[in-house]
Parts: sequence; C-alpha cells; structure tokens
Amino acid sequence: TAVSNIYPTAALRALDAAHHIHPFTDTKMLNAEGSRIITHAEGVWLTDSDGNRIMDGMAGLWCSQVGHGRQEIADAVHRQMSDLSYYNTFFKTTHPPVIALAERLAKLSPPQFNRVFFCSSGSEANDTVFRLVRYYWDQMGKPEKKVIIGRWNGYHGSTLAGTSLGGMKAMHGQGDLPVPGVTHIAQPYWFGEGGDMSPDEFGIWAAQELEKAIDRIGEDKVAAFIAEPIQGAGGVIIPPESYWPEVRRILSERDILFVADEVICGFGRLGTWFGSQYFGLEPDLMPIAKGLSSGYLPIGGLLISDKVASALVDMPGEFYHGYTYSGHPACCAAALANLDIMEREKLVERVADDIGPYLQARWKALGEHPLVGEARMTGLVGALELVPEKGNRRKAFDNTGTVGTLCRDISFRNGLVMRAVRDSMIISPPLVLSHDEADQLVALAR
Ligand code: PLP
Repeated sequence: TAVSNIYPTAALRALDAAHHIHPFTDTKMLNAEGSRIITHAEGVWLTDSDGNRIMDGMAGLWCSQVGHGRQEIADAVHRQMSDLSYYNTFFKTTHPPVIALAERLAKLSPPQFNRVFFCSSGSEANDTVFRLVRYYWDQMGKPEKKVIIGRWNGYHGSTLAGTSLGGMKAMHGQGDLPVPGVTHIAQPYWFGEGGDMSPDEFGIWAAQELEKAIDRIGEDKVAAFIAEPIQGAGGVIIPPESYWPEVRRILSERDILFVADEVICGFGRLGTWFGSQYFGLEPDLMPIAKGLSSGYLPIGGLLISDKVASALVDMPGEFYHGYTYSGHPACCAAALANLDIMEREKLVERVADDIGPYLQARWKALGEHPLVGEARMTGLVGALELVPEKGNRRKAFDNTGTVGTLCRDISFRNGLVMRAVRDSMIISPPLVLSHDEADQLVALAR
C-alpha cells in the first residue's frame, strides 16, 4: 500500500518535516511552508497528495526523457531483479546487462568512445573524471599535469570533486572548496555578463579566458578543461555561436584533456544523442547520468575515449577506483529499456525536427512578455531572463533570486514545475512532450 494511502497529507508533511532532510533546501523555510508531496506521475504529468495535476516542466531533475510511468522499464527491472538482483563488477566479474549497456553506449556515442566506466550518479562520474585525468597524466609520464580548469557557475555535482569542479560560489563557501588543483574561468553568459560586447565578441572573449588561464598556470601543469555544452543548473547558459569553435581552436593547440559534462545535454536534450555532437565538440571524456535511465533507477557513467583508455588498457598498472554499484544489473536493465524506448520512438530526432522547433518558437515568443528580457531555448532546454526594465539587460532584479523563487512557486500553484536560477525561469521538459502539452506549458508559463 502506498504511504500516501495510509496517511493524510498533513500527517505526511509533519513526518517529512520531523525526519527528512531535503537536498539543496533551507529546512527552516521548508518546514514553515510545508513540502509538496508527489504521489504519482505519468507521461509529463505529476499528481500530488491533494490530487492536483501538475506538468513536469523539468523532467524531474532534467532526467525523465521518456516521461514517467513507462511500464516497459518497470517490467525490465523486475525481470532483471528476478534473475540477478545484484552482483558487482569488481576484479574479474561481470554480467550480461552491464556488457549489453557498455556495448550500446559505445555504438551510440561519437567514434572516439568505445569504453565506459559505470557509477550511480553524475557526481560520481565527475569524481571519476577528477581521479582519471590525474591517473592518465601519471601514466603518460607527466605527473605534474594536475590542474583542472572549470567555469564559474558550472555544475558538476555535489561531492567534493563535483563541487570543486563546479563553479558555484555558494557551494564553495561551505567547506573551504574548491580542493587544491582546480581553477575557474568566466562562463559564456552574454545576457548577464556581456557588457557592451556583441554576443559573438563576448563568446570569443570568454573562450580566450581559457587560453589565458592555461598560459598563466603553464600548459605543463594543466590536466584538463571541464565544461557542460550548455550550462544547465547555472541557468541554461547557451553560449554565443563564436564560443565553442574558439574553445576548440585553443584545445587543439594544447596538450590538455577536454571533458564535456553530458549529464544534462546527453541523451537527446539538444536533439542529438550528446550535446557535444550539437556543438561539434570532440571531447576526451564524457560524464553521463540522468537521461541514461530517464531517472528510473540511479545510474551514471564516464565515456572514455580511446586516447584516455590507452592508459588503462594498454599500459601496466591498475586504476584503484570503483563503486559497489558500478554497473548495477537492475540499473543497467532500466537504462537499456529506456534506450529501447528512445530509439523506437525516435525521441532524439523528435527534439531536432518536431517538438524542439515547435516549443522553441512558442517559448521565444514569451520574450514579448513585459517581465522577460530574453527567452532562449536550444533543443528542449530553455530559460526566461526576468528583468525589471524591459529592453535593459544590465538592469537585473537584486540578484537574490527572490523574484525567481516567487515565480517558481506561482508557476507550481498554476500547475507547471519550472526551476528558478537566480531570476531566470528554467524549463527542460520530457522529450515525449506532445504539441498540445507544449501549448499548455507555454500558456502556464505565461
Ligand atoms: N553534471 C551536471 C552537468 C549536472 O547537471 C548534474 C546534476 O544536475 C551533475 C553533474 C550531478 O549529477 P548527480 O546529481 O546525479 O550527482
């Protein structure tokens, strides 16, 4: 029996307040206001404990590509659990679902990727990045290459390595982070930080910050550059067109690894299997999670290019790294069933050719709204920049995020989950969103 059938909503809220610490939540504020209790979900719709229907405009946390409640995935997990509920992949053991998923990912990803290391989340994938790039350079006889360059406002998870690689100052402020050996450069956020420059001038400037950082630190000390193709949690920062080609030019001239964090942009969000393909990037490593299983079970991974894999495959030595749940059979089964649906329903193509352009046109029309300074969207991920003075992008609200939080709460009450990042409103709906649901989404956001 579902817990929500036993306890009334008020009792559930009281128990939640008494015993449950939520991630990224001001607990005092939450307990004063009461939590929202989601009891059921199907397609792009959530149901709460009061029976309200709410559109899931964020695909959970940017992850439910195939939408909620797909029986096929539940059945695949059930079958796998009945067969082999758990076994590890340490030392010399393996099992069929992890082999099948590894092969599937090698086929889906760009040609330089033929190997994958599994874990349970995007944060663990980035912890693996942190350790693997250093291991790689040790193996290459260049142990002094240790520094990883990230970007301000990037998000790479909430573990020590993830928080450090990410550029969230509020997170760094708690616990004396980043750890040594990580540095950050500007983000390509033209709307907020572009000053008098045109978007393309600013894109070049932001990319060249990478070149300056490499020169300042010394190329012989830099191990890697890590970036999301589009910064997600930082506010859906879609870089100006000039940005990625200039970064590519810089990286092609430098002997450092490029890590494209695909935790949000991967699995069709931009209308390509990976965000790197959308922007023509050629990364050496790609952390993945979220859309890999549409969140049905926790699974992440690190796609490893042949170049980096050579340190593991061709050279002597063991990389002392792994997790109890690396390649968990039931999670692999969920991911395989999810990828089956994505391929059969051509969800990636749908984002590129059908629902993507459909929603983008309507979303961008919200730019006319008196409170919106910019409405941007690529694939099915977008943002509305809220401004107090139409036409003046320099003039932000007070940047405490109060306006955004207020709008997010109003949106939820109106029946649409959006996320607030400072004073931007973010949307990242399931890839199965229908045209009719896209119209409803825009009407609710308005
Ligand atoms: N990397 C990116 C780009 C993310 O957006 C996130 C989560 O939002 C992570 C890593 C961390 O993933 P997880 O929350 O699964 O640890």
